[in-house]
Amino acid sequence: MFDKFREECGVFGVFGHHEAANLAYLGLYALQHRGQESAGIAAADGGRVRLSRQMGYVADAFNEATLSTLSGRAAIGHVRYSTAGESRLQNAQPLLIECAHGQIALCHNGNLVNAGELRSQLVRDGSIFQTTSDTEVVLHLYARSRATSAEDAIVESIAQVTGAFSLVMLTPDRLVAARDPHGFRPLAIGRLGEAVIITSETCALDLIGATYVRDVEPGEVVVVSAAGLRSVKPFPPATPAYCIFEHVYFARPDSYVFGRSVNEVRTDLGRLLAREAGVEADVVVPIPDSGVCAAVGYAEETGLPMRFGLIRNHYVGRTFIQPQQSIRHFGVKVKLNPVRSILEGQRVVLLDDSIVRGTTSRKIVRMVKAAGAREVHMRISCPPTISPCFYGVDTPRRSELIAATHTLDEIQRYLGADSLAYLSLEGLLAGVDPDRRSYCTSCYTGQYPVEFPRDAHAYMQLALKLESTNVRSSSVPEAEVTS
Ligand code: SF4
Repeated sequence: MFDKFREECGVFGVFGHHEAANLAYLGLYALQHRGQESAGIAAADGGRVRLSRQMGYVADAFNEATLSTLSGRAAIGHVRYSTAGESRLQNAQPLLIECAHGQIALCHNGNLVNAGELRSQLVRDGSIFQTTSDTEVVLHLYARSRATSAEDAIVESIAQVTGAFSLVMLTPDRLVAARDPHGFRPLAIGRLGEAVIITSETCALDLIGATYVRDVEPGEVVVVSAAGLRSVKPFPPATPAYCIFEHVYFARPDSYVFGRSVNEVRTDLGRLLAREAGVEADVVVPIPDSGVCAAVGYAEETGLPMRFGLIRNHYVGRTFIQPQQSIRHFGVKVKLNPVRSILEGQRVVLLDDSIVRGTTSRKIVRMVKAAGAREVHMRISCPPTISPCFYGVDTPRRSELIAATHTLDEIQRYLGADSLAYLSLEGLLAGVDPDRRSYCTSCYTGQYPVEFPRDAHAYMQLALKLESTNVRSSSVPEAEVTS
């Protein structure tokens, strides 16, 4: 909503249901938080794959007439948020092509770190790209594959990409799901009667009345056809690197991600934060909606009351038109309003999940103080974010991350808070997974589990994000490298 990392995509697939496209539509509704710039559905009736994509929210992208054209018992869908470059319909997913292997539609959540390199090679070999999306590379590799079956061609093409990918693909007669060997982004399998469902998050299963079966495992390719569900693991195993930020912020709290309830994890993070960084106060106030679960945990642990001292306007969309400069002082008040009766005269613990640039947090602290709070103690339920993400999440460049360039004291002074504390990395890991499986924590550590190219021409986004390295950033052709 505010100054946050942004998830870039959500994917959904269904096989074996007479209302496949309608289920995909509902599934995308549940995944809308993962991308709001475009939405698309492809459906297959055993003979043809048909596609409908639009810019905007799911609710605006489809109507009964468009959904009725998407006949068949299998469908895939996608919601997208783009990063660099313009947001345009050609980049909306699913992408659909027809080649020697037949038709295939593809949806991707993640980011292919070697897409630039592969794209250059493919262009040199004669490929003509239709989009500026990294995802299209997979389709070109697929089309060029000499494998004798569509399935083998899919495996052969994804074996050549590195980085983060949770994919759903649709041919006229089968649904294929694949997750990269590190398992960066989530991907779950569900059942609705005989139908198989694939989804980025389990909240989509709840909406359509499906039951969760299991996650698509890292490095697994799942093929669903009239013959049933088949699983192959064609890639060499890799150390898991589940995106810890899914639990911190991206996923909906009513989802299960990487095997754990997001709500439970976030509440635990609040409890751990209270143990690590308790403070004398009167009331715990979450920054809605991102700070709510952690605030519940913090309040439970400390015995302090939790009150909704900030009210969010849920009807301010991405299309909000900034008024004239002269009355722009609305600032963050368009989205949040303080509740004076809760805040006045109180020592407030203000809870949020993360601080990215710090600009919005500063406005909120001021707003809470202006509403009469005696003290404002900012508590953040994750460690300082010091490094950008290259695995499918939109983050600012490193120099814009306040914690990358400022000390804790400096950030506290900038925010105007009476105290500031973040949850430690140790605390975050303990809260997210007591079994201590392996998570990607690169945005807190700057240690990246999958190497990315150092060639700015191959990876413009990288050059934008890590200007402190010796990556060249000039004369870079415009290219978008997100899903
Ligand atoms: S760098 Fe951060 S946001 Fe990106 S995958 Fe890793 S944990 Fe997630």
